[in-house]
Amino acid sequence: MFYRYIVIERGRVKTYYITMSPIEIKQTPQGCIEEKHMSVMSFSIPRTIYYGEGALEKLSLLKGKKAALVTGGSSMKKFGFLDQAEALLKKAGISSILIDGVEPNPSVETVMRGAKEMLAFEPDWIVAIGGGSALDAAKVMWCFYEHPEISFESIIEPGSMPPLRNKARFIAIPSTSGTASEITAFSVITDTKSHIKYPIVSPDMVPDIAILDPNIPMTMPAHITANTGMDVMAHAVEAIASVAATSFTDPYAIEAMRLVLENLPTAYKEPKNIVAREKMHEASALAGMAFTNASLGLVHSMAHKIGGEFGVTHGLSNAILLPYVIAYNRKVSDKYAYAEKLLGIKDISVEIQRLNKEMDIPLTFKDCTEVDFSEEKFLAVLDRMSEHAFEDPCTLTNPGAPTVADVKMIFEAAYYGKAIK
Ligand code: NDP
Ligand code: MN
Repeated sequence: MFYRYIVIERGRVKTYYITMSPIEIKQTPQGCIEEKHMSVMSFSIPRTIYYGEGALEKLSLLKGKKAALVTGGSSMKKFGFLDQAEALLKKAGISSILIDGVEPNPSVETVMRGAKEMLAFEPDWIVAIGGGSALDAAKVMWCFYEHPEISFESIIEPGSMPPLRNKARFIAIPSTSGTASEITAFSVITDTKSHIKYPIVSPDMVPDIAILDPNIPMTMPAHITANTGMDVMAHAVEAIASVAATSFTDPYAIEAMRLVLENLPTAYKEPKNIVAREKMHEASALAGMAFTNASLGLVHSMAHKIGGEFGVTHGLSNAILLPYVIAYNRKVSDKYAYAEKLLGIKDISVEIQRLNKEMDIPLTFKDCTEVDFSEEKFLAVLDRMSEHAFEDPCTLTNPGAPTVADVKMIFEAAYYGKAIK
């Protein structure tokens, strides 16, 4: 099985876990979580990945009749990539419609609007170009284009999405180097009525083709480069330490770490450096290949919840949390030492803090000025945030058996800059 839906009961509290990881997880009579690798595992990535400067040109070789181009706000239009994509599709003899205006953290309404436009036009290709938000929205539009009779509620449970590719295939062209939505079986869609962000999981949503053209992320502003770049590092580091990591996922994560260490500061300081941009774009996809198959850990569990409470950017939270979670996990995992040996570095945490300093990322939440991180508010939400982070599905694949108290201790350490006990 590719993913599981798990219910763990602690007293009267039921926790629902969703995981893509091929592991079996049980609760022991003592209340601990038992993890066991399953004997049959799977590894899914796009069938074709075009990468390198000018990779966008590959659109002109597509075989088909009609394409629906899906994008975000204005950036792809403004920098000319949307016009290029339309022209290349035209060269391939493919007529296209544009579905734009996908907002950051895309909503169910946006997804339904796009699906309706697809139903009217009947494309045989869906071409998503933009950040993770545009790619994620396009993936779920695709599902409702293929299956207009089903509801959003019916695809929330992992494994519940009906098969895709009866009407169209999917191309993803990322414009940020971070989420790796062009690789993954995930899409994050927000229900604006309930304010809940739903991770939609289906191996069918892994795109058919990913196009990694470094000219496209070149227009990202410096702070987005820094934050999304540290998200890539977090994906790689967490995929390495994950209890579902295997020999199929480790090599991609190690290479992604190497590429981020060597290229992120340059991409940040010299936005037009094509080599650094290309390597970061590839690092993002490689880390995606690792984490879509091995899942993540506490850095993401905690970043999701501190992001929810304070509105702090995802990659920025990850960058701050990483050294603290590594210090905590090192007690039970030898995977950091394994990665350090292969990368020829002494201490991955020191390297991460070096990157943070070079890109003006603070080392603690207390010193983070992006949002209001007052001590009063931090202490007021700390218990709730720790419980919610503990319950996040990413906690399941973190090494060891972290408790709510451990999560709270790590949050405190990352807020004040204290050492991990
Ligand atoms: P977004 O797609 O939300 O884009 C953020 C901003 O960056 C937008 O204003 C966008 O502008 C702008 N932008 C994007 N590319 C460029 C560029 N090349 N030049 C200039 N500006 C640009 O950001 P992310 O890529 O970080 O995606 C975040 C989303 O991905 C969230 O919804 C998150 O939950 C989800 N996610 C998905 C994962 C998955 O596996 N599917 C994994 C992790 C997160 P404009 O809109 O005008 O294009
Ligand atoms: Mn992430």
